[in-house]
Amino acid sequence: MVDRRVISTTGTVLDEATIQEFKTSLRGELIRPGDEVYDTARKIWNGMIDKHPALIARCTGVADVISAVNFARTNKLLVAVRGGGHNVAGNAVCDSGIVIDLSKMKGIQVDPTTRTARAQAGIVWGDFNNETQAFGLATNGGYVSTTGIAGLTLGGGIGWLMRKYGLTIDNLLSVDVVTADGRFLKASKTENSDLFWGIRGGGGNFGIATSFEYRLHPVGPMVLAGMVVHSAMKAKEVLRFYREYVATVPDELGSSIILRTAPKVPFLPEHIHNTPIVAILICYVGTIGEGERVLQPLRELGSPLADTIGPMPYKVFHEILDPIAPPGLLVYWKSGYLASLSDDAIDTIIAHAWSTRSPLSYTILPHLGGALSRIDEDETSFGDRYGQYAININAVWTDPQESDEHIRWAREFFDSTEPFSTGSVYVNFLGNEGEKRVKAAYGEAKYERLVALKNKYDPTNFFSLNQNIKPRT
Ligand SMILES: Cc1cc2nc3c(=O)[nH]c(=O)nc-3n(C[C@H](O)[C@H](O)[C@H](O)COP(=O)(O)OP(=O)(O)OC[C@H]3O[C@@H](n4cnc5c(N)ncnc54)[C@H](O)[C@@H]3O)c2cc1C
Repeated sequence: MVDRRVISTTGTVLDEATIQEFKTSLRGELIRPGDEVYDTARKIWNGMIDKHPALIARCTGVADVISAVNFARTNKLLVAVRGGGHNVAGNAVCDSGIVIDLSKMKGIQVDPTTRTARAQAGIVWGDFNNETQAFGLATNGGYVSTTGIAGLTLGGGIGWLMRKYGLTIDNLLSVDVVTADGRFLKASKTENSDLFWGIRGGGGNFGIATSFEYRLHPVGPMVLAGMVVHSAMKAKEVLRFYREYVATVPDELGSSIILRTAPKVPFLPEHIHNTPIVAILICYVGTIGEGERVLQPLRELGSPLADTIGPMPYKVFHEILDPIAPPGLLVYWKSGYLASLSDDAIDTIIAHAWSTRSPLSYTILPHLGGALSRIDEDETSFGDRYGQYAININAVWTDPQESDEHIRWAREFFDSTEPFSTGSVYVNFLGNEGEKRVKAAYGEAKYERLVALKNKYDPTNFFSLNQNIKPRT
């Protein structure tokens, strides 16, 4: 017998008439346990997360979002907010309570004249690129195309274009927000500017963003992109080279290192599948000719196992990493920023990167700097703009019996990198790691400013399932 009761955080069981009244107020679906789509609708990207909400409100627009917020507040329900559903921590879904699911809100309008786009909160970066690249335009999105624009933007947004054009939030012009009291607000530099400051880095703490307006830039459509792959045996040489190389490159070059076992993907030669590799991924957003020149030293290093760099549509390149991050696998991650890639840091990373038994696990080191580090520290609530690299250690596996082993690998690896860390962390790369780590993501002064905003916009902590900034009212 399926339990379809909806129980508030104070233990009250909602009567059926109240739920039906809410259901009829929505243009979108209201999904409950026992409904055919329930098990699909409660799943998110990380297969580790197996939560059972009492209600999933699949909103189709702002009216549904307001209705869901008012219903949840009046009836004291635990609330989760879902954008692209990609977050590893799994806060996009909850046990009992209500998921306010924006994944069907997929509208996007591009204005090629003003080079801006307004996009609803349910789209992922692949959808976004599809529309903007029709006009040869883009803004900085993530490294894969399947991440939601909403969660990524609200936490900051790092990706291929950030060195040239800044973080995603540095290209955010305005945002529409439904607050905990059900109000609809616009936030920009000129309207509710305090909220706009907080929302650019502060995650989902202040309200539900229903749509985002972005500044776009000419990108491609053809860019020089791809990867150079070396054997892990050469990792020390490759990482030391990379460190010196990226210190000299122009902002047009976005790059990241991946350390892992070579996956069975068509763009890697079959004979290297399942062998330990170090790959340097690049996307050059200047002219192809300039890019060829900038990339020459990288391509001349040693004898790579593969070199897939060539002109390709930006949209295609943006999807290239999708196969290594499919939905449904079991994932646990730890992350931080590295002040630099010292010899000791390199040795430590090499000692751990391939010591996992899972061929699906991987470590990425996105190269930061460039435009993102030149924007004033106080412009947004984003934490640390000055790390040289992020390090993101991804334990990925399929057998739940092995969870402890893989989680331990990520934790021990991460602990070993702490001497080289800035002490800070990108908030979107956090798991459920507690208040201390959330504070570390912002630093003391920004965290206090965020608490003051939380006191103003969400004094009851209605939006608590996120990298939570607790109000002090
Ligand atoms: C494989 C992979 C690759 C990634 N690559 C990158 C990358 O290149 N760059 C980068 O910056 N990050 C990256 N991330 C991290 C990513 O930015 C975060 O996981 C982000 O939260 C995902 O957003 P989402 O909307 O898909 O997630 P969701 O899980 O739907 O949302 C995450 C949280 O954000 C909040 N939220 C979501 N939508 C809204 C909304 N509309 N209003 C208010 N709050 C909302 C909620 O608190 C929710 O719990 C990656 C993650 C994964 C798993």
